[in-house]
Amino acid sequence: PIPTNTLEKQLELRKNFISSSLSLSYKEPIHMVRSAFQYMYDAKGNTILDAYNNIMLVGHCHPKVVEAGQRTFARLNTNTRYVYNELQSYSEKLLSKFPDSLNKIFFVNSGSAASDLAIRLAQTHTQKNKIMVMEHGYHGNTRMGVDISHYKYQHQGGAGKKEYILEAPMPKIFGSGFDTEADACTHFVVKTQSEIEKYRSEIGAFIAEPIIGCGGQVPLPKDYLRHIYPKIRAQGGVCISDEVQVGFGRLGKYFWGFQMYDVIPDIVILGKPMGNGHPIGAVITTREIAQSFENGLEFFSSFGGNPVSCAIGEAVLDVIQEEQLDGQAQQTGSYLKGLLADLGKRFPELSDVRGEGLFLGVEITDENNQPDKKRAHYLKNGLRNSNILIGTDGPEDNVLKIKPPLYFNRDNCNMLISHMEMLLRKK
Ligand code: PMP
Repeated sequence: PIPTNTLEKQLELRKNFISSSLSLSYKEPIHMVRSAFQYMYDAKGNTILDAYNNIMLVGHCHPKVVEAGQRTFARLNTNTRYVYNELQSYSEKLLSKFPDSLNKIFFVNSGSAASDLAIRLAQTHTQKNKIMVMEHGYHGNTRMGVDISHYKYQHQGGAGKKEYILEAPMPKIFGSGFDTEADACTHFVVKTQSEIEKYRSEIGAFIAEPIIGCGGQVPLPKDYLRHIYPKIRAQGGVCISDEVQVGFGRLGKYFWGFQMYDVIPDIVILGKPMGNGHPIGAVITTREIAQSFENGLEFFSSFGGNPVSCAIGEAVLDVIQEEQLDGQAQQTGSYLKGLLADLGKRFPELSDVRGEGLFLGVEITDENNQPDKKRAHYLKNGLRNSNILIGTDGPEDNVLKIKPPLYFNRDNCNMLISHMEMLLRKK
């Protein structure tokens, strides 16, 4: 048995067993022992406010989700080669959240497995190999996941862009130099369309997140996808929306990110919050694309769609609905965004506050309007010392990421803001 007494001992054991290619948050890592709703508890007995872990969508250890998992695991766990009610029941409920055209599900166990499968589906359906990806996008840790993730292949010791990958510039409005969102949108649409033109008839899929998380919580210009999707389809490709970060009501008004932009994708990738911490992912697609995949090669996932995962996934949907957590995300999100914007008026280093619902980003810049990673990390670490979790990301790692469990309330927002203000005053 491994002694669990001290952080130092845990770190020593971890160093022995675990590759250092896995990162640890913070210079002084946190030894977590327990969690509930929007709070985590460390081994020292501190209560930590979680403004970061979006996977725990309906709250850490939500009792209804835990109970659904325990009850089903104690009764039956098997795979999709047998018939059990949970698969149909969950599929029906999940699909009811989508437009009619998206009506077939493949269950897997992670966002990475989902993005990998989505690309296979797209390439099989279109018989086209090239994939257009978004600059600074992230879609997964498999070989394919890394191939389609500019964030990985271009940064962090990646091996560069593969020949079958095409890149769309990240359509970030802030800092683009255009006076209006419409002008910025036109600029990015024209650039991306000319790239599509170059490879006309060769592009099997276009994949993008509705708000680019690793790019630094960057929403797309409102009309961007409405121009890009038709262009991709006109040359025979399909459009994939990666909803792993933003799906399931986090955006408040929009249950799915693609709804922000008034488009309907051909393939949707789900993960993270889907199981509130239990490993589930899925690909949702059209009947036609699913049919192209029915070519004699069986699709089987040992754990994808098992009864326990389905029961947990269904409980998550039930909790969102019963507790109206998407409405909470909208209300608390706009309250918090307002507070952050006010703070930005007093502290110009908070140069852009963006995002939707409880998926927010704050760009931190210096006196010369340049990305200020140091100050962003000062804030992240300062908050950690006050027992509040947030993250940083973006190409320059200067964007604060705020994406808490949807239980996050106004008092929690006030606490986050007052601690940020204290830190900004000290600097
Ligand atoms: N897509 C997006 C947008 C993600 O953020 C992630 C995970 N960070 C993935 C896919 C991959 O999901 P997983 O880590 O569950 O494999």
